[in-house]
Amino acid sequence: MDDEAQPPHTHETFTSAPAIAFNPDAITLESVRAHFPCDEPPVGLRVDDLGPGSESEPNIRQALLGEQFDDPVAAGSVRCVACAHRCVLRPSRVGICGVRQNRGGWLYTLVYGEIVAAQAEPVEKKPFYHFMPGSYAYSIATQGCNFHCAYCQNWQMSQAHREGVVPESRNVTPEKVVEEAVAAGVRSMAYTYVEPTVFIEFALDTMVRARAAGLHNVFVTNGYESPEAIELVAPYLDAANVDLKAANDRFYRRVCGARWEPVRDSVVEMHRLGIWIELTTLIIPGLNDDRRELRSMAEWIATAVGPETPWHLTRFQPAYKLSELQPTPAATLVEAAAIAREVGLRHVYVGNAPEAEAATTFCARCGETLISRADFSVTGWRLVDGRCPRCKHALAGVGLEDSPVSV
Ligand code: SF4
Repeated sequence: MDDEAQPPHTHETFTSAPAIAFNPDAITLESVRAHFPCDEPPVGLRVDDLGPGSESEPNIRQALLGEQFDDPVAAGSVRCVACAHRCVLRPSRVGICGVRQNRGGWLYTLVYGEIVAAQAEPVEKKPFYHFMPGSYAYSIATQGCNFHCAYCQNWQMSQAHREGVVPESRNVTPEKVVEEAVAAGVRSMAYTYVEPTVFIEFALDTMVRARAAGLHNVFVTNGYESPEAIELVAPYLDAANVDLKAANDRFYRRVCGARWEPVRDSVVEMHRLGIWIELTTLIIPGLNDDRRELRSMAEWIATAVGPETPWHLTRFQPAYKLSELQPTPAATLVEAAAIAREVGLRHVYVGNAPEAEAATTFCARCGETLISRADFSVTGWRLVDGRCPRCKHALAGVGLEDSPVSV
């Protein structure tokens, strides 16, 4: 990442429309057609308002999950239904995420294939502890986010549009990025660092091709997808790590500019659809470290997605607009983990805090050590066919049959 401010790109040039890279033949879901804005330009628009950008602007494509919106004050408005904000965009306006725009009555993405990050990482770093442990994921992101969390570690990517930052980027096709992933020897593609819903067109195209190449797809998400977006990606999405910031509206409204209910509903829906779920909570001193609040989060997890759902508790490090706060004390993390276990959660992990680290997976039934980790690597593996060697209880997760380490 190059954090140095540069002159912003202009997205104002419209020329003839190249074919939309999204291949409708590859997706058979009715939902795609239902939310595809329209096949023909709306009547009465200026020709130069229409069409995606020229080949010199491959990042600008017609978006999915847009619909025409009947606004009596502003003709040609559209609504984006990719996330729970459901932004209504008057002509030329961009949504809250800063990367989806109304151009001539059509919804466009401004970041198709315009990636600001691409690297192979241990899947444990995302973090996933029960999904293909010991494997690598190829992590990609564009700029833009539908949240504006005051403590965002990736704000140069997520809040670039708000902060006047232009992150270094390159434009890639889905085929190219999958090729890079395969060459890197990973087993999954991870859509991460910012909320992947805001670049859902590129994510979906890539997910389809990743599957064809034998890779899995994982989202690291804030859970603010709309039900329509979940329906769209679900056939290709194997796992999601959802950032559970709190279990109340107050925190979401105050710190992230969002609401709790859509996150709650997304987690439940993805779980219902068979997508493997892990949850992560960054514990911030004074903001979401109240013991009663942590207990209610743990209780909600146990009830909504089950006590064997992994919950990662991580240390806050001062960042962005909360640079003045202190890092989370180790004692708070230890206490939070104890509360979660007391509530009945079986797989509670503490990360980003060496003195409080809890990274070992134990059997949910008998407590036997199953997977040991150090520095995002698997260092010990005692599962036999995905089961505890002592009591034979199956460990909840995906890809647990084969050991990634020589033991
Ligand atoms: S993705 Fe969400 S924030 Fe962005 S335009 Fe669509 S509804 Fe608004």
